[in-house]
Amino acid sequence: MTIIIAIDGPAAAGKGTLARRLAARLGFDYLDTGLIYRAVGMKLARAGLDPADVALAERAARDLSPADLAAPDLRMDEAAQAASKVASIPGVRAALLEFQRKFAAQPPGGKGAVLDGRDIGTVVCPEAGVKLFVTASVEKRAERRLKELQEKGLGAIYGTVLADMRERDERDTNRAVAPLVPAQDAAVLDTSDLDADQAFAAALEIIGSKR
Ligand code: C5P
Repeated sequence: MTIIIAIDGPAAAGKGTLARRLAARLGFDYLDTGLIYRAVGMKLARAGLDPADVALAERAARDLSPADLAAPDLRMDEAAQAASKVASIPGVRAALLEFQRKFAAQPPGGKGAVLDGRDIGTVVCPEAGVKLFVTASVEKRAERRLKELQEKGLGAIYGTVLADMRERDERDTNRAVAPLVPAQDAAVLDTSDLDADQAFAAALEIIGSKR
């Protein structure tokens, strides 16, 4: 049996950076599941279609190919908003479940898998040996996202970033299927007052205590 580390939490809490570092340290494969939802959402948004259209979104999820995950526009905020719209459609989530589970059970390197997302510990891999719920205050998360955007040379206003973050939190937390909640057996890691190195050290300590 391969080892599965499930990392869930809201946007910009530091999940991605942490998951990547843990995978590199442990020699595990990493899957950013948000990217899958972004790719489905952008297939529609790019074509000028509504990501909230159930039939179109379900078809886009069924037809998703690995090449779609390499699209350069998936990191944009437009992709994040489109992702959270398609992500609330049950048929979209069902279509993407198998791909994620297969990656977790049979990671390419054969040693273990780190998956990050919103429902890894609760729905995708409830059997995961380690579950982390990485979170931070919405204000801290908006500050981090603003800094990221500014570093990329993209103009952004704190108030807008904060409002977008709140809107996405609201949609992710209150949707009927696979809402964003910590699994009962998840260790909660609040990164509001931690930098990336401190969050990494804290996660390694939690993992060490579970294995
Ligand atoms: O993590 P990221 O910001 O890339 O996720 C984009 C959106 O995709 C989230 O706001 C959420 O709506 C959705 N998502 C999800 N389940 C996952 C990963 C992402 O619903 N496992």
